[in-house]
Amino acid sequence: PARPVYAGQLPQGLQTISNIIAVSSCKGGVGKSTVAVNLAYTLAGMGARVGIFDADVYGPSLPTMVSPENRLLEMNPEKRTIIPTEYLGVKLVSFGFAGQGRAIMRGPMVSGVIDQLLTTTEWGELDYLVIDMPPGTGDIQLTLCQVVPLTAAVIVTTPQKLAFIDVAKGVRMFSKLKVPCVAVVENMCHFDADGKRYYPFGRGSGSQVVQQFGIPHLFDLPIRPTLSASGDGGMPEVAADPQGEVAKIFQNLGICV
Ligand code: ADP
Repeated sequence: PARPVYAGQLPQGLQTISNIIAVSSCKGGVGKSTVAVNLAYTLAGMGARVGIFDADVYGPSLPTMVSPENRLLEMNPEKRTIIPTEYLGVKLVSFGFAGQGRAIMRGPMVSGVIDQLLTTTEWGELDYLVIDMPPGTGDIQLTLCQVVPLTAAVIVTTPQKLAFIDVAKGVRMFSKLKVPCVAVVENMCHFDADGKRYYPFGRGSGSQVVQQFGIPHLFDLPIRPTLSASGDGGMPEVAADPQGEVAKIFQNLGICV
């Protein structure tokens, strides 16, 4: 998709990035970080130069989901810039690599920290920067979307009806900001056991979002113990098993972003 017209001046740190993809959810715990990380490693596996920015300063997941050797961001004292850390060729920035754990801050301060981390990083030439957005559609998210010229958004949700209402909020926020939502990922949609498929949270709310808001792609991501284990183990599943079932889902998502 074409990048929306950006009103302000492009922050310098972002000028060498071709596409910025927001991975967003309206609630915590629906698998947003899992999707962001696996999407990023899928794009890298397809040959793209990729970075991940973990914008969730209250609960940064990136330091758990990937295991770079260097777990602290370095500063370039002359240029006053941040040098990202790296794992399997993907550049990484997270508040969790800033040596302070999770943040205790008020909203405006959070926006300032996110803005600074993102725009003073030496990302270098990137084809894709994947942003793991903080959950929700409040001020922090809005500010972030206004600082960053987003190319596209991917919304992550779970199949419950309740989730549908929240997703609608997210879609509206991006649509106001003229950022195209290219896909919805309906996570934990089913699991297979004893040769049968189970739908523990019901069915159909993802396709309702797609129809109602004209989002072009819906992806079902099943509940898979390996997805959770690889997240906890610091090795994205798509990198551990690039030919697997999960990798195939993410390859299709990668093509549409
Ligand atoms: P969020 O970023 O929305 O808070 P996470 O990506 O951190 O959510 O996921 C929450 C937890 O659920 C993590 O432990 C993750 O490994 C697990 N998880 C997410 N999606 C799946 C899935 N499809 N199958 C199994 N576990 C999953």
